[in-house]
Amino acid sequence: MPASAETLMIMRISPAGAAGCCRIAGMSPRYDLHSHSLASDGTLSPAALVAAAHAAAVDVLALTDHDTMAGIAAATECARPLGMQLVPGVEISVSWRSQTVHVLGLGVDPDCETLLAGLAGLRAFRDWRAEEIGRRLARAGIGGCYEGARQLAQGSIVSRTHFAHHLVARGHAASVRDVFKRFLVNNKPGYVAGQWADLEAAMSWIAAAGGMAVIAHPARYNMTASKLRRLAGEFRECGGAGLEVVSGSHTRDNTIAMAALCRNEGMLASTGSDYHGPENPWVRLGELAALPAGCRAVWESEHWLNPAACRQFISNQARGTRIRQAD
Ligand code: AMP
Ligand code: MN
Ligand code: MN
Ligand code: MN
Repeated sequence: MPASAETLMIMRISPAGAAGCCRIAGMSPRYDLHSHSLASDGTLSPAALVAAAHAAAVDVLALTDHDTMAGIAAATECARPLGMQLVPGVEISVSWRSQTVHVLGLGVDPDCETLLAGLAGLRAFRDWRAEEIGRRLARAGIGGCYEGARQLAQGSIVSRTHFAHHLVARGHAASVRDVFKRFLVNNKPGYVAGQWADLEAAMSWIAAAGGMAVIAHPARYNMTASKLRRLAGEFRECGGAGLEVVSGSHTRDNTIAMAALCRNEGMLASTGSDYHGPENPWVRLGELAALPAGCRAVWESEHWLNPAACRQFISNQARGTRIRQAD
């Protein structure tokens, strides 16, 4: 039986789910469950990110770098004396039906060998892809991009964002958005198709690390409503718990649509800015709309930051899928 809807229905609102670290008594904590540091394509160090989140009155911050947890230890260290709760997270690149989808693992164990090994595999592909992007841009007449992007990445993962910053700095485009449109997306000279984790693999890594899985910015994939429903349904069957309903990259209409999808699929709702640094003034840490009515927040679930319950949830779901497939 697809247990997810029922299971999620009976999840209680757990008093322990609230961080208990809100700075103003009687007010609910401020959550921001999606952010990036220099460990991936953010521009602030983990320490500076935590300080900025604290200055923005965030009580609970998830650091969710792309395909790496290298910033978690430093962020956790810096958050502790500030009384801020740092949720260890990661944003995993997943290939689903030849599209790239980002899956957040929230509350993952940053020392989990299974998750670390999975992410290392993705970074190996990233390294090859970065060189390939460089070769393709060189063929299109723009040399030195791989070296430029690597330099900006400062030893961390190399992402398309680094290429974009390099190309803007070299005057090849007016803005990061412009670079993506002209060079780094499908049918453009620097585009290389992603070959990331498959959904089942990503879910098994998150399960091993005791985390909760959430689809990041679901409205940003340019999918039709029916394809998005299929993604949400398959994700839920693999043990996915939630959708990021409120995101720094969602419009108000996106949020309303994703809230409806979330309710219809019986999933939990998450909220995160997807902050990458102060260079983008449109996205601010912790400045997020309230979750629409009828959405149950991830932190209200008894599974929140409960590794044993999260692990059990994903493996029950995955088992259910296998039994159905075998029927
Ligand atoms: P990658 O994981 O290396 O393929 O890079 C993906 C990252 O590029 C995303 O996480 C965003 O930070 C950034 N990105 C993707 N598309 C755009 C866009 N159209 N404009 C600006 N940044 C983008
Ligand atoms: Mn990014
Ligand atoms: Mn993303
Ligand atoms: Mn992100």
